[in-house]
Amino acid sequence: MRWMKRDKPQPVPCRQFDASNCDTAEASAALDVTRLLTTITDNLVGMIYRCRIDPDWTMEYVSDGCYKLTGYRPEELVLNRRISYDQLTLPEDRERVSRVIHAGIRTSGNFDVEYRILRADGYVCWVLERGVAVPDAEGRPAWIEGYIQDISERMAVDEMLREAVRRYESLFEHATEGIFQTTPDGRYLSANPALARIYGHASPEALIAHLHDIQRQLYVSPDRRAEFVRLMQTTGTVRNFESQVYRKDGSIIWISENARAVKDTGDNVQFYEGTVVDITERKEHEAVLEYQANHDSLTGLPNRSLLRDRIDQAITRARRENIMAAVVFVDLDHFKLINDSLGHYVGDRLLLEVASRLKSCVRGNDTVARQGGDEFVLVLAEQHSEDEMLAVVGRLLDAISQPWVDGGQEYGISCSIGVSCYPRDGADPDALLRCADAAMYQAKASGRSTYHFYTPELNLAISERLELANSLRHALERDEFLVYYQPRIDIASERIVGAEALIRWDCPGKGIVPPDSFISIAEETGLIIPIGQWILREACRQTQAWREAGLPPIAVSVNLSPIQFRHTGLVQSVADALADTGLTPGQLELELTESFVMHDAERINVAMRSLKALGVDIAVDDFGTGYSSLSYLKRFPVDRLKIDKSFVRDIDSDPDDAAIVRAIITLGHALGLRVVAEGVETRAHLEYLRQHGCDEVQGYYFSRPVPAGRMETLLRDGLPAAG
Ligand code: C2E
Ligand code: MG
Ligand code: MG
Repeated sequence: MRWMKRDKPQPVPCRQFDASNCDTAEASAALDVTRLLTTITDNLVGMIYRCRIDPDWTMEYVSDGCYKLTGYRPEELVLNRRISYDQLTLPEDRERVSRVIHAGIRTSGNFDVEYRILRADGYVCWVLERGVAVPDAEGRPAWIEGYIQDISERMAVDEMLREAVRRYESLFEHATEGIFQTTPDGRYLSANPALARIYGHASPEALIAHLHDIQRQLYVSPDRRAEFVRLMQTTGTVRNFESQVYRKDGSIIWISENARAVKDTGDNVQFYEGTVVDITERKEHEAVLEYQANHDSLTGLPNRSLLRDRIDQAITRARRENIMAAVVFVDLDHFKLINDSLGHYVGDRLLLEVASRLKSCVRGNDTVARQGGDEFVLVLAEQHSEDEMLAVVGRLLDAISQPWVDGGQEYGISCSIGVSCYPRDGADPDALLRCADAAMYQAKASGRSTYHFYTPELNLAISERLELANSLRHALERDEFLVYYQPRIDIASERIVGAEALIRWDCPGKGIVPPDSFISIAEETGLIIPIGQWILREACRQTQAWREAGLPPIAVSVNLSPIQFRHTGLVQSVADALADTGLTPGQLELELTESFVMHDAERINVAMRSLKALGVDIAVDDFGTGYSSLSYLKRFPVDRLKIDKSFVRDIDSDPDDAAIVRAIITLGHALGLRVVAEGVETRAHLEYLRQHGCDEVQGYYFSRPVPAGRMETLLRDGLPAAG
């Protein structure tokens, strides 16, 4: 124990002055040690004191610093005149202070203690007291001498630090983000519970113990860690660094890291520290969104936007390898009809079937995409010749035209195909798509179930078509339609028994436009509904007018578009046309094309029966061109078959055509139907048909389709001698 003797003050070390170096007077002034000590004590920022070791810590001496420290003047504190030092000490701290001081005195004779005092002005301030026990004559500790200083400022800073640490620890412990410190060579220095949780470990300790080679154990692709380290070395940070990592159980998750390199003062990297978030859910969501954005939801095929990429890729490859690539536009024929008449479920199943048939026709590096509706686009990469493309197109047409069986029903399907190729027709996806689309339209126009390669002339055809569609919209209100009539003649009597109403469009600037040029546009745009109603009414009105004018009564045949047939108002509008014009139902015949009839047999049968119930006749037009099933034909309430003109044309030169015509006549009669031949242009045609029992004919041989006025003359005066 080192005791400090208070009654025998320690010699104060002071500098020895060399009298030879200065004045004697100056030297003696410098040695006034008491004055020096007093100056120091009185000017010290803290308080020097001597107190008794008693419960009050009774002060026997305090330096002038007392006032600044406690707010009490020295004389108020000394001998507890106004307040004892124990009273100054904050009650909560008193016992601890006393314990520390007594322990210090007992063991080393001195002590350090920090506690709070309540100043005279009511403020609490932190002090540090350093004291030494001073023994009495018997050597027992009786006083303490020491120094008390205000450490409030330091305590505040300490508290702030402590708070910061507490906060950091809380963050570290409770963060939902994983937090780590790792060495550049891939070991963990620290990890928080969240990180352990993210990586599937029971605790941070377990994680640290298990993962000692981050690059190989953690990252699914070790290159990712290499990239992480490279970024750290070059930029010192990584931001939103996304990687796939293994969890402890071997499952793979996506994480995003933000980290920085922590360097020492010598600019050497000490460790990396950063945060980890599990972004697996977001990544999965993004993947789903990306898939949805690029694929058709029904068929799972690439959609329009992915298609563009695929065309781009095919172009790039073709350019590099100096070969070709093809864009093939496939559009189902009459899909709308199936979809609307049989319902979307059947339509969807058909699209799925078509998608799989198309896929079966191409190679792995080709693309089958769904562009929307019933339009599919194929990208044939690596094509070397047009023949090669043609082979694929042939396979496509063949695959699609296989009968499709659904719900016990068999459907005939077909498609129209347009092909464009790089580099000949265009150098970018848009151009190639446009060209393939134009070519597909051409295929449709040439009778469907066929293909067309793009040629520059098609562009012209397309723009004409657009122009036509535009003017068609106004044709009805501007009264630009006309009805021509073509007489139907009974072979036996060679007299007019009916007339087919054939629409004409008197289009300003174009003259008389034939129906083949605009009916399909009218069908696509839906204009066929009002146009169809108009011609139906007009044909009925005209026929009734002839009758009322006393001309020999004839039947009038009106062509119906499949679109009209689908339209729910059809039966009603036929009934209305008859009622409004007064025409006898038996004088009206409705013509349906054969391919259409076969498409949706059951439903059409029902509609036909409703029409039949009105008393009108029904004819199957263009017979021989579709593929009728005889059983259907038997069940349908049909009155007449119209042999397509393509068979009649070569009847006298082509034995096959002649045989078909004979077969149709026989078949029709067997079913109790009347048979009409269209396109009779020559006497030879007529004679052949007569010879084989055909009932009626229609054709240029007797009369072309003529305006109503001319038809009236024919009715009144009879046919001019033909030949
Ligand atoms: P379609 O119903 O088969 O009509 C017969 C077509 O053959 C008519 O052509 C007629 O002019 C033509 N034709 C008649 N006799 C001969 C001949 O001896 N030789 C040749 N080569 N052709 C002959 P058009 O008037 O151009 O009509 C074409 C098609 O347009 C029609 O074929 C019909 O499917 C459709 N169509 C005409 N009018 C209407 C209509 O009002 N509504 C609907 N939906 N379609 C119509
Ligand atoms: Mg017809
Ligand atoms: Mg016809």
